[in-house]
Amino acid sequence: MRKVVGCILLAAILVTCLGMRGIIPVDVDQGGSDMVTMYSEDGRQEQFTPAEAEEQKTVGWYDNFNDVVTKMWKKDGSSIVVYKSDVSKYEKEGFTTNYASIFSKIYNPETEEEKEVLKTEVQSYIDQGWKRGSGEVDPELPMIALTFDDGPNKDTTKRLLDVLEENNARATFFMLGDHMKGAADTIKRMKSLGCELSSHTYDHTQLTQLSGDALKEQFEKSGNNLKDIVGEDPSTVRPPYGSYDDSVKSVAKDFGQPIILWSVDTLDWKSKNADSVYSTVMSTVQDGDILLFHDIYDSTIDAVVRLIPALQDEGYQLVTVSEMGEAKIGGLEPGDVYTDLRPGTVKKLTGASSQSEEE
Ligand SMILES: [Zn+2]
Repeated sequence: MRKVVGCILLAAILVTCLGMRGIIPVDVDQGGSDMVTMYSEDGRQEQFTPAEAEEQKTVGWYDNFNDVVTKMWKKDGSSIVVYKSDVSKYEKEGFTTNYASIFSKIYNPETEEEKEVLKTEVQSYIDQGWKRGSGEVDPELPMIALTFDDGPNKDTTKRLLDVLEENNARATFFMLGDHMKGAADTIKRMKSLGCELSSHTYDHTQLTQLSGDALKEQFEKSGNNLKDIVGEDPSTVRPPYGSYDDSVKSVAKDFGQPIILWSVDTLDWKSKNADSVYSTVMSTVQDGDILLFHDIYDSTIDAVVRLIPALQDEGYQLVTVSEMGEAKIGGLEPGDVYTDLRPGTVKKLTGASSQSEEE
């Protein structure tokens, strides 16, 4: 009975929302006492006996009207409710089912007030001191990790931190131990912005060519330098050239560091071209990606200045690698190797029957 009332209620909402568009007929039938009203994604509605109804469920019919419709939005914030079979038609008219691509959460650090506004209005709020999002991670929403190797560099990394701060985004820095001393203030600022401080070894030696104490030293010296500056050890490690073997894994485990590779290679070091870095990312990025950049090139920072708001507009939360690990698989394991945490990978790692879609 409650279901029927729900349908009528939704029908009433539909009339109000779409009325004139006439997208969905609103004579939702209450049905006879023993009959079940069922709905299809292309807008049909029929009565079935309970036994028939069970069977119909296997061929694309639903007994809940809400299952056959979906809400869509336009950039100006207007919304409609349509049958699922009509989604592509309305996409051509500029509607999207991706709510997060239309609205953004903004946050006022002074008053701790949070609200949702149109993407098109976000910049005007930022100019008044608001920030994009509260910085909290919502595990239900798409997220990616921007990672930066070979720094820090006083000038280029500073520009990067400026844009991260302005957009309330975070990144993971795989720093070289021998670059840390000269950039202590930069590293302290990374920490204060909630960025992740990680190691890229002491001096960029290929770890698989080392063994014993020489291998350990690459972890130890890098860790000591970071500890001197912020009082903490690197949380994860990225081996130079992505090159590792069993001894590297074993030492990383001893130092409590998961090994982080990447799923999107921007090739920024090679192209040194902001447009190319930008389009590589925007054309390939997906939920759970770990993106590889180097924060020592001006061209990389030029690209990232554009990428950060663009990715947020696409609905991605820009989080650290460990935050993503926490949100998606309950944490990263020291000594284990991670390339990405896309839905398919998460499914494999957790062995759970996830409801999220395969890529
Ligand atoms: Zn490197």
